[in-house]
Amino acid sequence: MVITFLCTAKLTPHGEALTVDLTSMSSTLLRLGLWIILAVVAFYVLHETYAGTHLEAYFSTPMLQRGLMLGALLVVAGIVMRLAEKGASKVVKNRCSVCKTPIPSGAIYCRAHLRNVLAREDERTHMTRTR
Ligand SMILES: [Zn+2]
Repeated sequence: MVITFLCTAKLTPHGEALTVDLTSMSSTLLRLGLWIILAVVAFYVLHETYAGTHLEAYFSTPMLQRGLMLGALLVVAGIVMRLAEKGASKVVKNRCSVCKTPIPSGAIYCRAHLRNVLAREDERTHMTRTR
């Protein structure tokens, strides 16, 4: 269950993958935690629905508690990371590594240079493609 969530969390667009974005890290943690809590609640409902039947064993309470703890832990970690990012972004002013214009935190290049880098990356992947 957790593995599926981790996989979907990794499916970021091509452009985002190139910029090392720390803010997406905290939002990923928050999203993951909330999804796990949501899943635990859903499983709890199933647990209550199937109470007394042989299906109850599939939705055991210790497993749900562990899931809830994991979800809460991820949410707390996400909140802490987000606060840390907010503090850090005030101190460190991000600049484009080519032309030094100020850019949003987490980005490496300004919009124009990011496009250049992406175009170059595109070209390279096309050249190395085996037909
Ligand atoms: Zn630039």
